[in-house]
Amino acid sequence: MAVTPADVTTQPATEPRPAAPPAPEPTTPAVPGEHPNEAPRLTPVEVVPGRALYKEVLPGVLQVPADLLLAASRKSSLWPMTFGLACCAIEMIATYMSHYDLDRFGIVPWPSPRQSDVMIVAGTVTKKMAPAVKLLYEQMPNPKWVISMGACATNGGPYTRYDRVLQGVDKVIPVDVYVPGCPPRPEALMDAFLALQGMIMEERKAQGRA
Ligand code: SF4
Repeated sequence: MAVTPADVTTQPATEPRPAAPPAPEPTTPAVPGEHPNEAPRLTPVEVVPGRALYKEVLPGVLQVPADLLLAASRKSSLWPMTFGLACCAIEMIATYMSHYDLDRFGIVPWPSPRQSDVMIVAGTVTKKMAPAVKLLYEQMPNPKWVISMGACATNGGPYTRYDRVLQGVDKVIPVDVYVPGCPPRPEALMDAFLALQGMIMEERKAQGRA
């Protein structure tokens, strides 16, 4: 029996798949367009293995030791107690005035030992006054520092032969910075404050990194 072409069943050829329809356009952009300057910050970050994620997410964040922050805060907010003993106190008062402007260093005079952290011994320390100086020092909270201003406070100055004058305030309280002069100029007292600020940062290195 003859086979006609009509009897042959042929498989249809494989047709190519229809192309996927194009993705719809997002109605809202991933980054809001009203703040173009913030676009780099708002763009989703790519996680890079080995790098801290918070540095990717918050690139403006600083990572610093806490003791560095404490030392920088202390040295930038020194509050010297306002009290004077003799003529050096006049120079100390002049240093607080607007011409020298100690406020720009964060140094603010404070009329109480309870919140002060710097004592400026400005003037002659008599043996009668020494217990009061020591009491004021002990009323100050820690950490605290002492500046011995002038020759009298440092070693008796012109009164080294006077039995009623203490031969240096460091006989009763610890002194951190000595300011020479009779009397020292306001610039010298400012220099003492700058030296004290440097000392506070150095102490942080010695104590915080041990
Ligand atoms: S050092 Fe000179 S200026 Fe200062 S208290 Fe003594 S005598 Fe006065």
